[in-house]
Amino acid sequence: MLHLIIEELKNNKTLNDKDFLRLFTEYTEEDLSFIRELAREVAVSNFGHGIYIRGLIELTNYCKNDCYYCGIRKSNLNVERYRLNLEQVLACCEQGYSVGFRTFVMQGGEDAGIKDQDIVLYIREIKKKFPDCAITLSLGERSEQTYQNFYDAGANRYLLRHETSDHTHYGVLHPAKMSLDNRLNCLHILKKIGFQTGTGIMVGTPEQRVEHLLKDIRFIEQLQPQMIGMGPFLSHCDTPFAHHPNGSFSMSLLLLSIFRLMHPKALIPSTTALASLDPKGREAGILSGANVVMPNLSPVDQRKKYSLYNNKAALGAESAEGLALLDKQLQSIGYHISYDRGDYEA
Ligand code: SAH
Repeated sequence: MLHLIIEELKNNKTLNDKDFLRLFTEYTEEDLSFIRELAREVAVSNFGHGIYIRGLIELTNYCKNDCYYCGIRKSNLNVERYRLNLEQVLACCEQGYSVGFRTFVMQGGEDAGIKDQDIVLYIREIKKKFPDCAITLSLGERSEQTYQNFYDAGANRYLLRHETSDHTHYGVLHPAKMSLDNRLNCLHILKKIGFQTGTGIMVGTPEQRVEHLLKDIRFIEQLQPQMIGMGPFLSHCDTPFAHHPNGSFSMSLLLLSIFRLMHPKALIPSTTALASLDPKGREAGILSGANVVMPNLSPVDQRKKYSLYNNKAALGAESAEGLALLDKQLQSIGYHISYDRGDYEA
């Protein structure tokens, strides 16, 4: 039983390396229940039972990168590529606003076909039409000047998962021309500029070891991001990792709870990947300390094309049209949708 270690994690918001490794390697079902219970107590004491919603607009599935795990990698010739124009983006926001979204997340591949100025224009126009809304970007690695331009145009938040903080493991997941150092440097720049910054990892990627997860925990502990996103790795049939098993559900929940205990005020989503892996994944994430969900607000006819992994949930409670269903699911576990903007509060 690891209850003492788990209580120490709650009280001190950290553990020594040895105890973290014990937690990863020795936890039982019962320990998992215990840590999830403490993590949700911490979440509820900071956020109550309201779950923030973010409308996810998948801007483009063109990408110049070739990450081995990702279904929209450049080398995947089976993807039908698309990018949204300004009118389409504004229509998504319009629809989202009318059902109560006050944060729009523009996510996409690193698409050379959408110029930085185009994105600046999208941001400005969204801000003009929906001045009370927050804009989150998740558009990968850019230059400091570009990030600054996005910020000056009105973007408030930026999500950039570091994916793994171990250089060798990063090299297993990415082609040699991509660099972990560049990605980490981007995160520091984003924070310096003033973005509410999110990072995170996938759980169960090929060759991931518990020592890597420990490094991830330490990196996030140092960075102190405002948002932490994490979900299981899920395989995609048209990638080099097509036959690699999906990440573990229980390990994903364990990590979520660890992050909640270490970062009581962080915004932590119950991710689409978790909901895609298990029919009760969304609820399980919330009951492990998550306090955000990101329903899909992309045009329905494009959604299938943004296939990061197979069987990605994009309908029902995972979609903007399904907010009523989402609220019902949340109510069934004692929670509800919060329609607040949900900015990070220190
Ligand atoms: N181009 C942006 C957005 C990437 S997609 C960027 O580089 O940040 C958003 C996240 O989806 C990624 O950061 C990754 O953690 C996750 N993702 C990608 N492929 C995945 C897969 N096969 N399984 C689970 N998560 C995946």
